[in-house]
Amino acid sequence: MKSKCYYVGSFAPMPNVTPPRLIPKPKTAAEKQARLRKILNTLEKLYPDAVCALHHSNPWELLVATILSAQCTDERVNKVTPGLFAKYPTMQDLAHADVREIALDVKSTGFFNNKAKSIQGAARTLIEQFGGEIPRDIEQLTKVPGAARKTANVVLGTGFGIPSGVVVDTHVTRIANRLDLSRQSDAVKIEKDLMKILPQDRWILFSHQVIHFGRRICVARKPKCAECPLDPLCYAKDKTLA
Ligand code: SF4
Repeated sequence: MKSKCYYVGSFAPMPNVTPPRLIPKPKTAAEKQARLRKILNTLEKLYPDAVCALHHSNPWELLVATILSAQCTDERVNKVTPGLFAKYPTMQDLAHADVREIALDVKSTGFFNNKAKSIQGAARTLIEQFGGEIPRDIEQLTKVPGAARKTANVVLGTGFGIPSGVVVDTHVTRIANRLDLSRQSDAVKIEKDLMKILPQDRWILFSHQVIHFGRRICVARKPKCAECPLDPLCYAKDKTLA
Protein backbone atom coordinates (compact mmCIF):
# COMPACT_ATOMS: atom_id res chain seq x y z
CA MET A 1 0.00 0.00 0.00
CA LYS A 2 1.24 3.46 -0.90
CA SER A 3 2.01 5.65 2.10
CA LYS A 4 0.54 9.13 2.14
CA CYS A 5 3.24 11.75 2.54
CA TYR A 6 3.13 15.21 4.04
CA TYR A 7 5.24 18.23 3.31
CA VAL A 8 6.41 19.80 6.51
CA GLY A 9 7.91 23.18 7.20
CA SER A 10 7.52 26.58 5.60
CA PHE A 11 7.03 26.96 1.85
CA ALA A 12 8.19 30.58 1.85
CA PRO A 13 10.84 30.96 -0.89
CA MET A 14 13.98 31.78 1.05
CA PRO A 15 17.57 31.38 -0.12
CA ASN A 16 19.77 28.79 1.62
CA VAL A 17 16.87 27.18 3.48
CA THR A 18 16.40 23.40 3.50
CA PRO A 19 13.43 22.57 1.26
CA PRO A 20 10.40 20.87 2.77
CA ARG A 21 10.80 17.11 3.19
CA LEU A 22 8.33 14.31 2.68
CA ILE A 23 7.44 12.48 5.87
CA PRO A 24 5.46 9.28 5.34
CA LYS A 25 2.27 9.07 7.37
CA PRO A 26 1.41 5.65 8.79
CA LYS A 27 -1.71 4.13 7.26
CA THR A 28 -2.19 0.66 8.67
CA ALA A 29 -2.65 -0.32 12.31
CA ALA A 30 0.72 -2.09 12.18
CA GLU A 31 2.46 1.02 10.83
CA LYS A 32 0.84 3.19 13.50
CA GLN A 33 1.87 0.73 16.18
CA ALA A 34 5.46 0.60 14.92
CA ARG A 35 5.63 4.41 14.84
CA LEU A 36 4.25 4.68 18.37
CA ARG A 37 6.82 2.13 19.56
CA LYS A 38 9.61 4.22 18.05
CA ILE A 39 8.26 7.38 19.71
CA LEU A 40 8.11 5.67 23.10
CA ASN A 41 11.59 4.18 22.70
CA THR A 42 13.00 7.58 21.74
CA LEU A 43 11.41 9.29 24.75
CA GLU A 44 12.75 6.50 26.94
CA LYS A 45 16.28 7.07 25.62
CA LEU A 46 15.99 10.84 26.04
CA TYR A 47 14.51 10.91 29.54
CA PRO A 48 14.78 7.49 31.22
CA ASP A 49 14.56 9.02 34.71
CA ALA A 50 11.96 11.72 34.13
CA VAL A 51 10.04 12.58 37.29
CA CYS A 52 7.55 15.19 38.43
CA ALA A 53 9.30 18.55 38.87
CA LEU A 54 7.10 19.63 41.80
CA HIS A 55 8.94 19.21 45.11
CA HIS A 56 6.99 17.28 47.73
CA SER A 57 7.57 14.78 50.50
CA ASN A 58 4.17 13.06 50.56
CA PRO A 59 1.00 12.80 48.42
CA TRP A 60 -0.75 15.57 50.40
CA GLU A 61 2.06 18.02 49.66
CA LEU A 62 1.97 16.91 46.03
CA LEU A 63 -1.76 17.64 45.88
CA VAL A 64 -1.20 21.14 47.28
CA ALA A 65 1.73 21.78 44.92
CA THR A 66 -0.30 20.59 41.94
CA ILE A 67 -3.20 22.89 42.84
CA LEU A 68 -0.71 25.77 43.03
CA SER A 69 0.85 24.86 39.68
CA ALA A 70 -2.26 25.85 37.68
CA GLN A 71 -1.27 28.76 35.40
CA CYS A 72 2.10 28.91 37.19
CA THR A 73 5.56 27.46 36.61
CA ASP A 74 6.81 24.55 38.70
CA GLU A 75 9.86 26.65 39.60
CA ARG A 76 7.67 29.33 41.15
CA VAL A 77 5.62 26.72 43.03
CA ASN A 78 8.83 25.14 44.35
CA LYS A 79 9.82 28.51 45.78
CA VAL A 80 6.50 28.90 47.61
CA THR A 81 5.84 25.43 49.01
CA PRO A 82 8.78 25.12 51.45
CA GLY A 83 7.55 28.16 53.40
CA LEU A 84 3.93 27.05 53.12
CA PHE A 85 4.61 23.55 54.49
CA ALA A 86 6.86 24.94 57.23
CA LYS A 87 4.03 27.23 58.35
CA TYR A 88 1.27 24.60 57.95
CA PRO A 89 2.98 21.21 58.37
CA THR A 90 -0.19 19.10 58.29
CA MET A 91 -3.48 18.85 56.42
CA GLN A 92 -5.21 19.83 59.69
CA ASP A 93 -3.17 23.04 59.89
CA LEU A 94 -4.36 24.13 56.45
CA ALA A 95 -7.93 23.04 57.18
CA HIS A 96 -8.12 25.35 60.21
CA ALA A 97 -6.03 28.29 58.97
CA ASP A 98 -7.43 31.66 57.94
CA VAL A 99 -8.04 31.25 54.19
CA ARG A 100 -7.11 34.92 53.61
CA GLU A 101 -3.72 34.24 55.16
CA ILE A 102 -3.21 31.16 53.00
CA ALA A 103 -4.03 33.33 49.96
CA LEU A 104 -1.31 35.77 50.93
CA ASP A 105 1.12 32.90 51.47
CA VAL A 106 0.57 31.61 47.92
CA LYS A 107 0.05 34.99 46.26
CA SER A 108 3.05 34.78 43.94
CA THR A 109 1.61 31.69 42.20
CA GLY A 110 -1.32 33.72 40.82
CA PHE A 111 -5.07 33.12 41.19
CA PHE A 112 -4.26 33.00 44.89
CA ASN A 113 -7.77 33.48 46.31
CA ASN A 114 -9.14 30.53 44.37
CA LYS A 115 -6.09 28.41 45.06
CA ALA A 116 -6.30 29.12 48.81
CA LYS A 117 -9.98 28.14 48.81
CA SER A 118 -9.22 24.94 46.89
CA ILE A 119 -6.37 23.99 49.24
CA GLN A 120 -8.45 24.57 52.35
CA GLY A 121 -11.48 22.89 50.74
CA ALA A 122 -9.33 19.86 49.87
CA ALA A 123 -7.95 19.66 53.42
CA ARG A 124 -11.43 19.87 54.99
CA THR A 125 -12.99 17.39 52.56
CA LEU A 126 -10.18 14.88 53.04
CA ILE A 127 -10.50 15.15 56.83
CA GLU A 128 -14.30 15.08 56.96
CA GLN A 129 -14.99 12.49 54.25
CA PHE A 130 -11.83 10.42 53.92
CA GLY A 131 -10.41 10.25 57.43
CA GLY A 132 -7.51 12.54 56.55
CA GLU A 133 -6.27 10.12 53.86
CA ILE A 134 -6.01 10.76 50.15
CA PRO A 135 -8.28 8.25 48.37
CA ARG A 136 -6.37 6.02 45.95
CA ASP A 137 -9.18 6.02 43.46
CA ILE A 138 -9.75 8.61 40.76
CA GLU A 139 -13.53 8.66 41.13
CA GLN A 140 -13.20 9.49 44.82
CA LEU A 141 -10.24 11.82 44.46
CA THR A 142 -11.93 13.97 41.82
CA LYS A 143 -14.65 14.76 44.40
CA VAL A 144 -12.06 16.70 46.41
CA PRO A 145 -11.96 20.49 45.75
CA GLY A 146 -9.09 21.46 43.47
CA ALA A 147 -8.54 17.88 42.29
CA ALA A 148 -9.83 17.79 38.73
CA ARG A 149 -8.80 14.89 36.56
CA LYS A 150 -5.31 16.16 35.71
CA THR A 151 -4.46 16.91 39.33
CA ALA A 152 -5.87 13.57 40.47
CA ASN A 153 -3.77 11.75 37.88
CA VAL A 154 -0.65 13.58 39.08
CA VAL A 155 -1.30 12.65 42.71
CA LEU A 156 -2.22 9.02 42.02
CA GLY A 157 0.56 8.49 39.47
CA THR A 158 3.45 10.29 41.13
CA GLY A 159 2.29 10.08 44.74
CA PHE A 160 1.17 6.44 44.77
CA GLY A 161 2.42 4.90 41.52
CA ILE A 162 -1.17 4.19 40.43
CA PRO A 163 -1.68 4.55 36.63
CA SER A 164 -5.18 6.02 36.84
CA GLY A 165 -4.84 7.87 33.55
CA VAL A 166 -2.48 10.07 31.56
CA VAL A 167 -1.65 13.55 32.84
CA VAL A 168 -2.51 15.99 30.05
CA ASP A 169 -1.07 19.45 30.58
CA THR A 170 -0.21 22.12 28.02
CA HIS A 171 2.95 20.25 26.87
CA VAL A 172 1.20 16.90 26.49
CA THR A 173 -1.66 18.61 24.62
CA ARG A 174 0.68 20.30 22.16
CA ILE A 175 2.92 17.29 21.56
CA ALA A 176 0.09 14.76 21.30
CA ASN A 177 -1.30 16.97 18.51
CA ARG A 178 2.04 17.55 16.79
CA LEU A 179 2.85 13.84 16.82
CA ASP A 180 -0.69 13.01 15.69
CA LEU A 181 -1.35 10.83 18.74
CA SER A 182 -4.59 12.74 19.21
CA ARG A 183 -6.44 15.27 17.08
CA GLN A 184 -8.50 16.56 19.99
CA SER A 185 -7.98 19.88 21.76
CA ASP A 186 -9.88 19.03 24.94
CA ALA A 187 -7.61 17.57 27.63
CA VAL A 188 -10.04 14.86 28.72
CA LYS A 189 -10.53 13.71 25.12
CA ILE A 190 -6.77 13.72 24.51
CA GLU A 191 -6.31 11.65 27.64
CA LYS A 192 -8.85 9.11 26.37
CA ASP A 193 -7.03 8.86 23.04
CA LEU A 194 -3.69 8.36 24.79
CA MET A 195 -5.11 5.76 27.17
CA LYS A 196 -6.31 3.79 24.14
CA ILE A 197 -2.95 3.66 22.39
CA LEU A 198 -0.40 3.66 25.23
CA PRO A 199 0.35 0.58 27.33
CA GLN A 200 -0.95 1.22 30.84
CA ASP A 201 2.46 0.68 32.38
CA ARG A 202 3.70 3.73 30.41
CA TRP A 203 0.89 6.12 31.38
CA ILE A 204 2.76 7.72 34.29
CA LEU A 205 6.22 7.92 32.74
CA PHE A 206 4.93 9.02 29.33
CA SER A 207 3.59 12.31 30.75
CA HIS A 208 6.79 13.03 32.67
CA GLN A 209 8.87 12.35 29.55
CA VAL A 210 6.67 14.41 27.25
CA ILE A 211 6.66 17.34 29.69
CA HIS A 212 10.49 17.26 29.77
CA PHE A 213 10.54 16.99 25.96
CA GLY A 214 8.12 19.92 25.67
CA ARG A 215 10.24 22.10 27.92
CA ARG A 216 13.53 21.35 26.20
CA ILE A 217 12.94 20.47 22.52
CA CYS A 218 9.36 20.54 21.29
CA VAL A 219 8.70 23.96 22.77
CA ALA A 220 5.51 25.86 21.97
CA ARG A 221 7.02 28.51 19.71
CA LYS A 222 9.73 27.53 17.25
CA PRO A 223 10.20 23.88 18.24
CA LYS A 224 13.83 22.75 17.95
CA CYS A 225 13.16 20.27 15.14
CA ALA A 226 16.76 20.34 13.89
CA GLU A 227 17.90 18.70 17.13
CA CYS A 228 14.81 16.54 17.63
CA PRO A 229 15.31 12.76 17.42
CA LEU A 230 11.60 12.38 16.60
CA ASP A 231 11.99 14.48 13.44
CA PRO A 232 11.87 11.47 11.05
CA LEU A 233 8.51 10.47 12.54
CA CYS A 234 6.95 13.90 12.79
CA TYR A 235 4.76 15.49 10.14
CA ALA A 236 3.51 18.41 12.25
CA LYS A 237 2.54 21.42 10.18
CA ASP A 238 4.42 23.84 12.47
CA LYS A 239 7.77 22.09 12.31
CA THR A 240 10.74 24.38 11.89
CA LEU A 241 13.25 23.73 9.15
CA ALA A 242 16.95 23.22 9.78
S1 SF4 B 1 10.47 19.25 17.92
FE1 SF4 B 1 9.73 19.40 15.81
S2 SF4 B 1 10.18 17.39 14.90
FE2 SF4 B 1 10.26 17.15 17.14
S3 SF4 B 1 8.22 16.48 17.71
FE3 SF4 B 1 8.29 18.71 17.94
S4 SF4 B 1 7.50 19.52 15.99
FE4 SF4 B 1 8.04 17.37 15.65
